Amino acid sequence: LKEEVRRAEKFNTLGELAASIAHEVRNPLTVVKGFLQLMHQKEQGQNRDYLTLVLSELGRAESIITDYLNFAKPQFEKVENFSLKDLILDVHQLIEPLANQQGVELKCTIQSEVHLFADRNQIKQALVNIIKNAIEASEQSGLITITLSKEDEFVHISIQDNGKGMTEDQLQRIGTLFYTTKDKGTGLGTMVSLKIIESLQGKMTYDSKEGVGTTVSIVLPVLKNIQVY
Ligand code: ADP
Ligand code: MG
Repeated sequence: LKEEVRRAEKFNTLGELAASIAHEVRNPLTVVKGFLQLMHQKEQGQNRDYLTLVLSELGRAESIITDYLNFAKPQFEKVENFSLKDLILDVHQLIEPLANQQGVELKCTIQSEVHLFADRNQIKQALVNIIKNAIEASEQSGLITITLSKEDEFVHISIQDNGKGMTEDQLQRIGTLFYTTKDKGTGLGTMVSLKIIESLQGKMTYDSKEGVGTTVSIVLPVLKNIQVY
């Protein structure tokens, strides 16, 4: 008896498979974290120290999933028509509590209404990663401005912060896998954002000065798979 193996799920790439696995792993992680936090509250002495360590490592596993696959749904490349303006306002709402926590103001300047035909969740992931970095680089009463505009055949998105900025050396290394200057960093966020923008035939550039701030500029071309009107 022979039976050809059929694919129950349509995974086109290994990346899609990875996204699905991470999506599934996330739920049990959240449950484990909840119970560990309860135990942590009740424990004392050495056990409490152990649990502090366990929770910190669990947090690390969570950040890796957050930077890489937070918004990737099991059906990965779900291409749809959506408003980039709405997406940016959505991301703003999602990330505002985090900004407020750090005393940072988040401002959106929408100069054009743009519609894209692409994977909404991937673009969301890219923007969240970049804005999170901007928040993490900012000090109390910092300002982050997100701008959306359209010029001829190109869509421009810029994320500007007045945070600590980067040195020449840091600028050279940005986007390298696992490159991080943070204690609890993953060094995945920028690389993932870059891959997503590149998959849309777009470009992402960093302009930064130490002690002054950083501007991330994203340019997406009008292609047949990216309808702009
Ligand atoms: P992580 O945030 O986990 O460190 P990322 O890939 O998101 O990893 O970022 C890599 C590094 O790039 C950061 O550790 C930081 O040094 C630098 N970086 C990224 N964005 C900014 C920014 N807006 N301002 C200053 N430094 C930044
Ligand atoms: Mg990051």
